[in-house]
Order: sequence, then C-alpha cells, then structure tokens
Amino acid sequence: VPFDGHAIAPETAAFLGKTHKLLIGGEWVEGSGEMASIDPATGIELTRVQTGGAAEVDRAVAAARRAFDGPWTRMTVAERTALMHRLARIMEQNALLLTQLDILDNGMPAFIAGLTTSNCVEMIDYYAGAIMRIEGTTTAPPRHIAAETEALTYTLREPVGVVGQIVPWNVPLSTAILKLAPALAAGCTVVIKPSEETPLSVLALGQMVLDAGFPAGVVNIVNGLGGDAGAAIAAHPGIDKVSFTGSTATGRKIVSAALGNLKKVSLELGGKSPVMIMPDADLSLAVPGVAMATFFLQGQNCMAGTRIFAHADVHDQLVAGLKGFAESMKLGHGLDPATMQGPMISGAHTAKVMGYIGSAEAGGATLVTGGEKLDRPGNFIRPTIYTDCRPDMALVKEEIFGPVMAVMKVETTDLDELAAMANDTPYGLSGSVWTKDLSTAHRLVKRIRSGHVSINCHGAVGTNIPFGGYGQSGWGREFGKEGLDGYLETKAVTARL
Ligand code: NAD
Repeated sequence: VPFDGHAIAPETAAFLGKTHKLLIGGEWVEGSGEMASIDPATGIELTRVQTGGAAEVDRAVAAARRAFDGPWTRMTVAERTALMHRLARIMEQNALLLTQLDILDNGMPAFIAGLTTSNCVEMIDYYAGAIMRIEGTTTAPPRHIAAETEALTYTLREPVGVVGQIVPWNVPLSTAILKLAPALAAGCTVVIKPSEETPLSVLALGQMVLDAGFPAGVVNIVNGLGGDAGAAIAAHPGIDKVSFTGSTATGRKIVSAALGNLKKVSLELGGKSPVMIMPDADLSLAVPGVAMATFFLQGQNCMAGTRIFAHADVHDQLVAGLKGFAESMKLGHGLDPATMQGPMISGAHTAKVMGYIGSAEAGGATLVTGGEKLDRPGNFIRPTIYTDCRPDMALVKEEIFGPVMAVMKVETTDLDELAAMANDTPYGLSGSVWTKDLSTAHRLVKRIRSGHVSINCHGAVGTNIPFGGYGQSGWGREFGKEGLDGYLETKAVTARL
C-alpha cells in the first residue's frame, strides 16, 4: 500500500485505518480522550489513539489485580511458558507490522526497527525459557529454632504483584518488551503506558497478547499523557512496583509519586556516556563505531556516546574520519532502506537540540560538520560534530538526545586522569574504551563509574546482558537474569519438623 512515496504492508495500512482504544481487562475499551499519532518524517497524521487518565488507570489496576489474584497465578509454569512462546511466534508472524509501526511512529530507520523487532521476539523467548529456572535456595535454620536436622529453611521467589510500566518514545516496542517479558515470566500482571509520541507498536502488541490467549487483565495498556496516565500509574496505591524508562527529570517525579504506598521503583534514565580513544586505537574500528555511538537512532539513544575524549596522537585523523562518516549518512524516511538517519521525534525536541547547537558555537566549540536542520518537511538535523569542546560546556554536560558529538582532545594516557574525565558527570549508563591494549582497556573499564562499558565497540547490549545505570542514570537493571530478579520477591520460610 503506498505511503507518501514508500510502500507499507496491507496489515500496517489496515492498522492505521482504525482508531485505537485502551486495553483493559482483556477488552478494547473507550478512553476519555483522544490524540493523534504523527509520522515525524512527514508530519502526516498516522491514526488516532484514545487516551486515559486516573479513572482508566484505576480500572486497569483493578483488572490487573483480578488477573494476579486469579487465573494468572493459578496457571502452571508450563502453561505460562507456552503462552509466552506463543506470543513470540505471533510477533514473528507480524514482524513487518511491528517494524513498520515503529518506523512510522518514531522515525527510526528500517535497519534499526527490523533489529529491535527481532530482539523483542528473542527477549520474549528468553524470558519464557527462564520461567522454569526461577529457583529459591535452602539454608540452615536459625539456631534458636532447632538443630539443622529438626528444621528446614528455604526461600521462594514470588512475583512482585501488579506492576506499572512507563516507557519512552525512542525505541517504543523494545523499551516496552524489556519490561513486559521479565514481568510476565515472573508472574506479575501489568499496566503499561507507552509514550504519547509513539503509542502504536505496543497497541499492536496488545492484540497479539489477546490472540496468544493470555488471561484477561494480565496485560493492560493505557495510553495518555505523562502528567495524566503516567502520573496516575506512579502514584496508584494498588500498584506494587513501577518500572520507568525515560528522562532523569521525570524519574525524580516518579520517585516522589511512588512515596505514597512506597511501591518499589526501578528507573532507566538518561546518560552522557564517555568514549575514550587511546593513542593506539584501531581507527578502522573506531571511526564507524564512534560515529554510530553518537548518531545511532539520530542520537535519541540513552547509551549515546556523546563525550569523545580523543588522544592528541589520533585526534585529527579520528575527526577527519568521523566527518567523512557523518557526511556520508543518508538522512530520510525510515521506510527507505538506504536511510541511515531519520527525523527527530518532534518539532519541540528539534528546537531543544538546535538550542544546544547554537550554544556550542557561542561557547567556543569548533563546528566540524552538520549544525543545521534540513530544509524539508519533518525534523531532520544533520549529524553534527564539534571539536575544541570543554567540560564546562552545556554540550558536554547535558544529555542532548540528538545527533550532536562533542570531541575533546586529551594529552594524557594516565588512567586515573582519564577516568576522572569520564566520570565528570552525574550520569553513569554506558561508555566505551578504544585501544589495542586489552590490559589498558580493562584497567580503564574498572575505573569508569557506569553500568555498561564496551571495549572497541559501543552500546553492546543484548538480551542476556544486564543493563542499567550508576548515579543519576537509574536504579536497578534490565535484561538478563537481573532483569527478571527485578520482578521477584524473596520469601524465606522456616519449618520446625
Ligand atoms: P520522558 O521522561 O519525557 O517520558 C518518558 C515516559 O514518562 C513517557 O511515557 C511519558 O509520558 C511519561 N511521563 C512524563 N511525565 C510523567 C509524570 N509526571 N509521571 C509519570 N510519567 C510521566 O522521556 P522521553 O523523552 O520519552 O525519553 C527520553 C529519555 O529516556 C532520555 O532521557 C533517555 O536517556 C531516556 N531513556 C533511557 C533508557 C535507559 O534504558 N536508561 C532507555 C531509553 C530512553
């Protein structure tokens, strides 16, 4: 089916042809408001989505509680595992729909959307497989109860309960799945709120959850604004845990709203990740690797490596390579397979990013390439590189969430000095070290205060690899075994025999 000079699948066109409701208690129900979903590459309205506020969140929490107290918890582990694998197969069959919805709603290039959809399927299968491996332990009983032969102490891992999940727009399906999959595997029920910028792929997923046969109320979807549906989830007394991915500023609001019932909180927040280029770095790896560390997803990436500390010996050659790479990146609609960089999510976000670009030059940074918006519909900003950056510049200190790289020339190879530069930030989400000397690499990695560091690559996340932040980048971990642990309580039991 044609879409503004590109082709979309008939199932995508059919999805866009409908107004979408809220998923509560296994049914699509009317919301109390409505919003448009916009293609950021063209400004075209894709479809309309109904929204909810406190009343709808309340109904969704009640449905999630009924499912938790009823059919979901009574299911056997084998049944829950089979349901999750069934969902993964349905997602696989509908991969094109999910991929195209994220391209259209978010603007991401097809090569990224295709990758995230297959990662999402893998993640559902991975956590389905983990259900039967959820294990407690046995340990010695307390001395005052009885001798070890006369008593038994063991632990049970139990689901946290009803979970609220609030996700951002930058990788819409993926940030939702990496919360939903471990929560469902743990036996929790969920009320999820996608970002108001990108509601579509999670709505399509909701139908797949129903088609797979999950009991009513296990997964509930309430779209809406952060200050309405989001705030209601964060504050709701019937929610046992809230899992949030988004900005550090909103993370603070979530924590205060959660104080009322002291619900558990996990936070995946912003970043300003360092990229450390040693004098012996292999530039054939570093040039594309560092460019994509910043420009992947138009820089709208929490792991973005945006502070580049380049040793003076390789600085000029690296910058020349990065300039060539940046200028070769094709900007365009995500549906065009040649596109390497799509649009920014919105006009407001574009204005914010352009504000940083303006301040960089005023502050004395040297523009190497980019620094401008494309003169065409949509919100396209050219990949932008600044050199001569200083640690006190806003460009270097703050998360820009756009295709803007700040390069700083460093003279030292002292690992403590380099680590002090890397750690000069309240964030601690990701980072990378580029050198042929693995001893240097590991010694520097140990000094960097961050939840995730890569060597000779950047942002190397994977289904089984724990991910999360130090400092103001968040609380808790997602992915891997740690991701599942976040949705489990531990109950210790002692029996006098
Ligand atoms: P955001 O904080 O503006 O919004 C995130 C979500 O929170 C949205 O669903 C929004 O509606 C909701 N929200 C807004 N105000 C709220 C409130 N008062 N109460 C409850 N919910 C509220 O973030 P964004 O602009 O959507 O996403 C970009 C940010 O997300 C960046 O800072 C990025 O680094 C971060 N991020 C982090 C990770 C990670 O894993 N650490 C991953 C992706 C994105």
